Amino acid sequence: MATQYSRFLATAALLAAAATLYAQETKPKPEDTEVWEPVPKVVTPGATCGAPPSDAIILFNGKNLDEWVTVKDHSPATWKVADGILTVDKSTGNIETKRKFKDYQLHIEWKIPADITGSGQARGNSGVFLASTGPGDDGYELQVLDAYNNKTYVNGMAGSLYKQAIPLANPARKPGEWQTYDVIWTAPTFASDGSVKTPAYATVFFNGVVVENHFELKGQTLYIGKPFYKAYDSAPIKLQAHGDKSAPISFRNIWVRDLP
Ligand code: MG
Repeated sequence: MATQYSRFLATAALLAAAATLYAQETKPKPEDTEVWEPVPKVVTPGATCGAPPSDAIILFNGKNLDEWVTVKDHSPATWKVADGILTVDKSTGNIETKRKFKDYQLHIEWKIPADITGSGQARGNSGVFLASTGPGDDGYELQVLDAYNNKTYVNGMAGSLYKQAIPLANPARKPGEWQTYDVIWTAPTFASDGSVKTPAYATVFFNGVVVENHFELKGQTLYIGKPFYKAYDSAPIKLQAHGDKSAPISFRNIWVRDLP
């Protein structure tokens, strides 16, 4: 009896130990939800928030227009470069990057001349086309315009995605002061038959203030009519030489980072 009882005790102890071990093994641990790969690449940030980080592609370095061509015939861009600043030349038309992009982060600074004249859409009009999809296409315009003291339709003011997205706020500075756009662009994707697989999204910070928050575009930003998509793969970034008669606007410190 004594032997049987001690065997029973030993078995019970073994079972208890096994149960404890099982409980320990199945109990969630912090390590279960730790992810160690892939390790993000190291990027050295710029010295200031607007300065390009180490992996940025510099689109305008203040010295030349080597990264740009004229849209109409792809000849070298000839907008005026002086004192580190690029100024629109309305006589030569829009310019666009030689490089093409899909998803990216963009930084660009712009200035309305202090002596700007005109009103509405004819007061410092330019634009950053987040994708310039080809001759004859409207593309996808982030509006550039004086918005400090200038009434216009709100889906066409500075910070708008032209005629689609009203900015969430108006953080415009006075004409004569530099302003910044920081943009996250998610390009639309298309099926092989040209239908939209995923739409385009844009997030825009205007002078550090979010004015477009992951806005889903309905297609190209059209001057007239309802927006629609036209399939493309990758596209240049375009700057607008608007036909209005007000003084031309200037740009500086333009850089972009491809996003995975
Ligand atoms: Mg414009």
